[in-house]
Amino acid sequence: MQICTQCPRKCRCDRINTFGFCGQGEKVKVAKVMLHFGEEPCISTKKGCGAVFFAGCNLRCPFCQNFKISQSDSDIGEEYSTAELADLFKKVQDMGAENISLITPTHFSHSIAKALEIAHIEIPVIYNCGGYESLESLKMLDGLIQIYMPDMKYLYPESAVRYCAAADYPQIAKSAILEMHRQTKEMVFDGEALKKGLIVRHLVLPGIYRESIEIMRWLSENLDKDSFYISLMSQYVPCHRAADFPEINRKIFTAEYEKVVKAATDFGLAGYIQQRSAATLEMTPEF
Ligand code: SF4
Repeated sequence: MQICTQCPRKCRCDRINTFGFCGQGEKVKVAKVMLHFGEEPCISTKKGCGAVFFAGCNLRCPFCQNFKISQSDSDIGEEYSTAELADLFKKVQDMGAENISLITPTHFSHSIAKALEIAHIEIPVIYNCGGYESLESLKMLDGLIQIYMPDMKYLYPESAVRYCAAADYPQIAKSAILEMHRQTKEMVFDGEALKKGLIVRHLVLPGIYRESIEIMRWLSENLDKDSFYISLMSQYVPCHRAADFPEINRKIFTAEYEKVVKAATDFGLAGYIQQRSAATLEMTPEF
């Protein structure tokens, strides 16, 4: 931790005494724990998804709907030792959740792995991340995570630089998704509930739907179409610092979203398509 290379940013900073790009020190910080019923149906189910929101983020997108916890310099959230985090996971399991969903976990992945080894959780554990993951961290999580739910945000370095200051995001995310797929191999359900598998989320942004279509193409050409889900999201609302980027300072047009949906369908991808009415902030949890 004294020279942090926990994620592909490789800040090489001393997180005991300072912060890197993710804005977090050495101790795990949890901003919110809740039963979440607004996720994809196979993980929300009737029981609810046991969402654990971590503070900080290694991408810091300017349009993030969770910016209050992902990019806040405030003291939002509570610190947890590894043992306390293991206890928290057990509590979420005892709440009757369908699963435990680790939301924005990347910059705490080492502590999370240790906590999961202690906790011996019996329900599926979901790694819900931005896709900017190191292969070393993912290999450490092999066997501890049952469901991966990464974003695939950008395919072109120009977009990745502009919105998350990471020209290597496309290559890193591709490698990470292939490793996640190697670990999960297939989608395994028990009734409506997903027990093991990979769901790749993609939020369609204003003006760059052609890039979204190329993401659909890449997924269709590089993963067995029956062995993962795509979750296409239309909920983009310009918030946080989106006004600093005029091209994304609006909701997406229905026609843009429909083009991406058609591409996903034409490429034979299975999964979820979000209703256009989801483009509000109503489903964003309060922090
Ligand atoms: S986890 Fe944080 S400090 Fe460490 S390399 Fe990534 S962004 Fe930098």
